[in-house]
Amino acid sequence: MDKKAIKILLSTFAKAQKKDPANWFKNYSNYISDEDFDYAKRHCTMFDPMVISHDEIFVRIKKAVETIKKEDVVNAFLYSLSTRRIEYRSFLSSYCIGKVIPIHPLTKCEQPNSIYCSICGLHTGYYSNELNESVDLNASNYSKYKFGASMEFAHQVLFDLEQFHHFPKVTPTEKDVEILNEIKKIIKSSAPDDRIPVLRKRISTAFQKSNNYERESLLEIFGVIGILHDETHLGFADRYIPFTERESRPIHYDDVLYPANWWQGKHGVDEEKWDFWFGKNR
Ligand SMILES: [Zn+2]
Repeated sequence: MDKKAIKILLSTFAKAQKKDPANWFKNYSNYISDEDFDYAKRHCTMFDPMVISHDEIFVRIKKAVETIKKEDVVNAFLYSLSTRRIEYRSFLSSYCIGKVIPIHPLTKCEQPNSIYCSICGLHTGYYSNELNESVDLNASNYSKYKFGASMEFAHQVLFDLEQFHHFPKVTPTEKDVEILNEIKKIIKSSAPDDRIPVLRKRISTAFQKSNNYERESLLEIFGVIGILHDETHLGFADRYIPFTERESRPIHYDDVLYPANWWQGKHGVDEEKWDFWFGKNR
């Protein structure tokens, strides 16, 4: 990816957040010139809105995920560890979700949540089966580059999977595998009631440089791919977890994504899923 194009993406949103803290993700276009926007679009870091219907999202996800090899997304994730190229991380969770997500018609949740699709969680005010809607993905791409964030919603998963082929294939090094193993060791040495906010601090010693946001995003990816969960709230490696099953914890404020939000130290690492993604020798 072109360095200048990445810089345009990051600096546009940084400016927007500073000047318009409440609505930066909607009003960011006030902080970028037409010339820079065109440059970023040419180099695939910013985009015109994607016009798509609810149903088409899932057809395209299936098409995209079938062209991607598991080994390549695992390698991308590993490569991100020593290089801090955190934009390579979300492909792993997007691939995992893309493999199991069902093609389905928009199916409204029961009242009072009928504004959401009960299967994927997309907002029915924005998406419908028949109408094409315009989706802005630039804020999602900003989170991908800035925090290595896992793509939570189906349109973001589609975007991520379709982006994968624009990234050069990468090969992890021994250093990446060392960092991965160190993270596993730290997770397994957690106190029984530790949760993600504690763990995200503890894994900082595995990296040369990192911040809380990107480490939390990494652990959320581990949740999505089935490595961090509790006894009943599982990740997406074996089956798609419908929106209505992705429970929040009964506390006032918890911004950790499902199912990592349910993980505690006593649950350790799901060894079967660890081996499935990273192999027994890693
Ligand atoms: Zn849906």
